Amino acid sequence: MGSREVTEQLDWNGKKVTVAGLGISGIPAARVLHARGALVTVVNDGDDERSRAQAAELEAEGITVRLGDGATLPAGTELIVTTPGWRPDKPLFTAAAEAGVEVWGDVELAWRLRESPAGRPAAPWLAVTGTNGKTTTVRMLASILEAAGLRTAAVGNIGVSLLDAVLGEQEYDVLAVELSSYQLHWAPSVRAHSAAVLNLAPDHLDWHGTMEAYAADKGRVYEGNQVACVYNVADQVTEDLVREADVEEGCRAIGFTLGTPGPSQLGVVEGILVDRAFVENRQKNAQELAEVADVQPPAPHNIANALAAAALARAFGVEAKAVRDGLKAFRPDPHRIELVEEVQGVTYVDDSKATNTHAAEASLAAYEPIVWIAGGLAKGATFDELVQRSAKRLRGAVLIGADRALIREALARHAPEVPVVDLDRTDTGAMSEAVREAARLAQPGDTVLLAPACASMDMFTNYNKRGEAFADAVRALAATGDA
Ligand code: ADP
Repeated sequence: MGSREVTEQLDWNGKKVTVAGLGISGIPAARVLHARGALVTVVNDGDDERSRAQAAELEAEGITVRLGDGATLPAGTELIVTTPGWRPDKPLFTAAAEAGVEVWGDVELAWRLRESPAGRPAAPWLAVTGTNGKTTTVRMLASILEAAGLRTAAVGNIGVSLLDAVLGEQEYDVLAVELSSYQLHWAPSVRAHSAAVLNLAPDHLDWHGTMEAYAADKGRVYEGNQVACVYNVADQVTEDLVREADVEEGCRAIGFTLGTPGPSQLGVVEGILVDRAFVENRQKNAQELAEVADVQPPAPHNIANALAAAALARAFGVEAKAVRDGLKAFRPDPHRIELVEEVQGVTYVDDSKATNTHAAEASLAAYEPIVWIAGGLAKGATFDELVQRSAKRLRGAVLIGADRALIREALARHAPEVPVVDLDRTDTGAMSEAVREAARLAQPGDTVLLAPACASMDMFTNYNKRGEAFADAVRALAATGDA
């Protein structure tokens, strides 16, 4: 079940480490390094009340904190550990490059510090990245690994933090690790047992600079893989990234597809998820893993997530039955294609987490006909392709939020026959009105789908709150006939 290595621990005593950024990864990193004897200075751009309170706590523990200046490299810095969100073109990093100082992100730090409590070899990582579907896939993977009787956790953006998982008391056989493109950018030496890139669509380009740079950072997840590099057959770039990666001898490229799988692929045949990669004689044989109906929700993109999770589990040696059991036991997180209720023959689905066009396109592809509720903060996106590809499924559209005009214009260009309601309000009652308008447009058998293709922060605290507002309005509609 995959090789393990005993990690070699660095000597941190007296090492001058600069931690870039207070916050959810910076503070624990500073504490861990300080505890190991490093001389830690935290630098932070902000100097507000909250950071002052955090700084006071760290200072009391003996950690130096410099607020209001995240740009200057502290004298004598031997290593920077950065918050992954900090952009690579920041002056601090230019200064570091000039001084020959290495920069690690939170994931690199976790990788370098990982150890097993009793000094046994550290748990290998099965890693997942991609523009959309990471959290879902990592949770499906953890569910499968658990069904196989392995001690595991889904770590990264969800649940346990990576640092806690690699340093905590709990022992793991294997970790299911979600990695963002930011984290991968700052993780030069991470070597996963096996890894998957789910898909690649333009996102976060303001941070990475170009699509090429974004793809290259995602592609790092394959570097040094031991057993399998899992790619999406429908997304050529992911396969190209496998080809470019420098992997361990014998590591295989494994594709997943919603179609019939070829040799060394996992795919779907007549409603069955099948494996033609991790079987004896893959030219002739295939192994049944699960049924499409075992995957919740059974939307096409989610079947793709399930296949990617299955591929990583199979690469780790998990038997077919555990794949089925794990997928059956998996329940999606809230606001990800969540069925809210059926009201007067119309199904209401909350995919508030569809915060970019790629995600929204996937959920629009799962239903027909749809009354689409969309809009919010576009983050520089354009909507022409999304609307073109989804137009024929639309019964109507209800637009909300700051950048709704962009979607309205795309609809006017590519789907002029689709009725559009444009809601010019951003108060708390706006979602109720959106649901009322959607109900008016919908006919029995239709789906009203909240898949905003935009971020939520113009109207809501986050996508959770947006989804809750939608669900509340739908329940009010069910109870009283009025949202
Ligand atoms: P991430 O962790 O990458 O943000 P999530 O699993 O939280 O991904 O899903 C985010 C959203 O992306 C979901 O609400 C869904 O609309 C969409 N999504 C999930 N999986 C895929 C996929 N394989 N392809 C396209 N969109 C997807």
